[in-house]
Amino acid sequence: MPDANSLYGPLDPAPDAGWVDAGPRMGFFTDTSVCIGCKACEVACKEWNGVPDSGFDLLGMSYDNTGALTANSWRHVAFIEQPRPAGHRTPPFAGTPTGGSASAASAAVAAGSAGGSGTDPGVPPGTADAAARMAATARTGDASAEAGVSGPASNGTAFLGMPGSQPPGRGTGAQERTDFRWLMMSDVCKHCTHAACLDVCPTGALFRTEFGTVVVQEDICNGCGYCISACPYGVIDQRKGDGRAWKCTLCYDRLGAGMTPACAQACPTESIQYGPLDELRERAARRVGQLHERGVPEARLYGHDPTDGVGGDGAFFLLLDEPEVYGLPPDPVVTTRDLPRMWKRAGLAALAMAAATVAAFVGGRS
Ligand code: SF4
Ligand code: SF4
Repeated sequence: MPDANSLYGPLDPAPDAGWVDAGPRMGFFTDTSVCIGCKACEVACKEWNGVPDSGFDLLGMSYDNTGALTANSWRHVAFIEQPRPAGHRTPPFAGTPTGGSASAASAAVAAGSAGGSGTDPGVPPGTADAAARMAATARTGDASAEAGVSGPASNGTAFLGMPGSQPPGRGTGAQERTDFRWLMMSDVCKHCTHAACLDVCPTGALFRTEFGTVVVQEDICNGCGYCISACPYGVIDQRKGDGRAWKCTLCYDRLGAGMTPACAQACPTESIQYGPLDELRERAARRVGQLHERGVPEARLYGHDPTDGVGGDGAFFLLLDEPEVYGLPPDPVVTTRDLPRMWKRAGLAALAMAAATVAAFVGGRS
């Protein structure tokens, strides 16, 4: 018996949508623990997809200038400033990551010595050299700090409460951690397994691709807006002055050409990873285990579970706090979940009314 959450068919949506010989389902894994908030993903997305700018003013929420996912922001880098972590009871920042970032590959990319990033996230694209140099620099920095020969504590400078420019924990020892942290997350359309936007679209403008992603065809969209209220994540949006619905396409045109989506290609820390969803899920589970071992008990995955209310997301995340802290719904449910049952009940009610009408008519004549 199928799970209640697989009411729209199997959990591999491309074959369900009629694609014969579809390849593996593709998606994004966004590891927020290594996001540095550079916004390269936002810019790359806009540039490749010709998305209009969304204003250049900071919104008063840290370094956020896009505010949310909108018709003109298909990637949104959220900045959350926390005086202390919410949602868990560990002492402040006891669990801030202490090692390097995701991999030696990330270190090489961050060191600027790697070639492309993200095209094959499982294989380190950079030179082993650069990674080793970077690790050595980090060790030297730690040793100096411990010896008290440099750093804020030893040279008399005062800590002003501002976060450093490095990813969490990199290159600093436990003694330099503070009571302040930035959480940064590059949000995107979740390319849900059970996508309500797609269920309610009356024109067929939204469709499921052979990669298992959800795409809007702008030349078919009539701007009715049904999809906007249907999306449980508040992702899809109508463009002002245009009226049509727009959102991330997971770079459908690039995927068709065997390329990596622009945001994953541009991300210098491999916070955004692209690949077959099954592989990404395995990699994400390993990364969570790694963070737990390093003393980051709050690391958890979001959107990876095929038994959740949307059948799992094609774009899922590693978070360092509760989903609500990032503005994500804790238990998203596909908004069309109850439709089949509602239609069935409406049909039964109509039948009952018709039967009552006939009975009344026949009864009146006798
Ligand atoms: S329902 Fe929302 S999050 Fe899911 S595929 Fe549609 S627009 Fe994306
Ligand atoms: S996800 Fe990558 S590209 Fe986007 S802001 Fe974070 S580090 Fe930069």
